[in-house]
Amino acid sequence: MKNLLFFICIILSINTIYTFAMDFDESYFNKKYSQIAEKIINYSKQNEQPYSRLQYMCDVFGPRLSGSENLEKTIEWLIDEMKKDGFENVRGEEVFVPHWVRRNEKCNMIYPRKTDIPIVTLGGSIATPKNGIKAQVISVKSFEELEKRKDEVKGKIVLYNYDYQGYGKGVKYRFYGAVIAAKYGAVASLIRSVSPKISQNLHTGMMIYEDTIPKIPHAAISPEDAMLLERLISYGKTPELELFIDVETLPDALSHNVIGEIIGSEYPNEIIAIGGHTDSWDLGTGSHDNASGCIVTWEAINLFKKIGLKPKRTIRVVQWTNEENGVRGGNAYKDTHQNEKHILMFEHDSGIFPPTGIRFSGNDTILSILKNTSKLYEKIADFNISKGGGGVDITPMVKTGVPAMSLETNDDGKYFYYHHSSTDTVDKIKKEDLNDCIAAIAIAIYIYSDLPSDLFN
Ligand SMILES: [Zn+2]
Repeated sequence: MKNLLFFICIILSINTIYTFAMDFDESYFNKKYSQIAEKIINYSKQNEQPYSRLQYMCDVFGPRLSGSENLEKTIEWLIDEMKKDGFENVRGEEVFVPHWVRRNEKCNMIYPRKTDIPIVTLGGSIATPKNGIKAQVISVKSFEELEKRKDEVKGKIVLYNYDYQGYGKGVKYRFYGAVIAAKYGAVASLIRSVSPKISQNLHTGMMIYEDTIPKIPHAAISPEDAMLLERLISYGKTPELELFIDVETLPDALSHNVIGEIIGSEYPNEIIAIGGHTDSWDLGTGSHDNASGCIVTWEAINLFKKIGLKPKRTIRVVQWTNEENGVRGGNAYKDTHQNEKHILMFEHDSGIFPPTGIRFSGNDTILSILKNTSKLYEKIADFNISKGGGGVDITPMVKTGVPAMSLETNDDGKYFYYHHSSTDTVDKIKKEDLNDCIAAIAIAIYIYSDLPSDLFN
């Protein structure tokens, strides 16, 4: 009997999924939303405001490292502008964030010839002593090679000159490089900048220490210099470097997550949270990463107001603080809001390039329904709706079971040319791409906010 009941339940639930998928097929969406999608796309294509705001945010406030005055001025501006737009409940929610500062950094090669080796210290690194660190370089391609050669490391500067095979594979040397080198007695460590582009460009980013292992300074050099140092070693001319790094970790500073809402017309207590992160590294002006994410999410929702769309659910624009070196904003949002009913978390943090799709991680019924909406984007691009999606700031909420969504773009490999470097400036972003990203996000969020309630219960 128990088995029979179980079997009936399974049949009923399969049937429900099937019925939903049948009810919400492609023709349902085309009929109901094609005019709305067209209106969104047409409005967005001629909208001058998003790009002007992006330029203003990047140029006037500049880089926005956590703890900096620049970041808090940006946050004040965002709050003022969102109020002017007519968002509801606009506010800053307090978050204490790490406060690491870069003052000076220099590296001289003193053997086999004298020259400057430009460096950028990695975020969270300690300083060198005032009179610097002078040592020979040992160059390795991997942690495995370092382990094999651990007896040669004591008193040296370890250089991780790995072969770049994608960001994910390179970033471990930035993140853990100092810990592993210090374990074997290194006095400092350097990495080849984490980027596919060989153009004397320097890329910073977050690194960590472990309490039980001595802390050593950790910095990035250009791919060209990493290759030069390795070649010198191969000639038997092991380079000797002098490193001077003046950086400091100050006490945590007060920052804020920015919040502004459109209250849902039918289900005000069901929330879609959407945003990017306001902070950036201190090189360049954090334009792709991630002023652009703040602008596209904010302006996608602002567009609802401009063309008179009233979402059934509450759309909460959240611009998270401190994604880069702590994720304190994302964690604080979860601590404050996890008991409210969130039906979606959306983040855009992968730069602005032509949009190509939507990724969704949630239940498969919703995903199969969303796949039937792809035609609505055809005036932007041939759109692919697939499983996946997420973002660092929304991860704490997603871990509690809330579905995630994000926009896919075709960056042609270029995002990591600029990422965390002085070249991440607003001139790298095309207005047409920005406006197409906004239109795609607006369509995705509006449709999601309009889905039937049964899907979320
Ligand atoms: Zn980012």
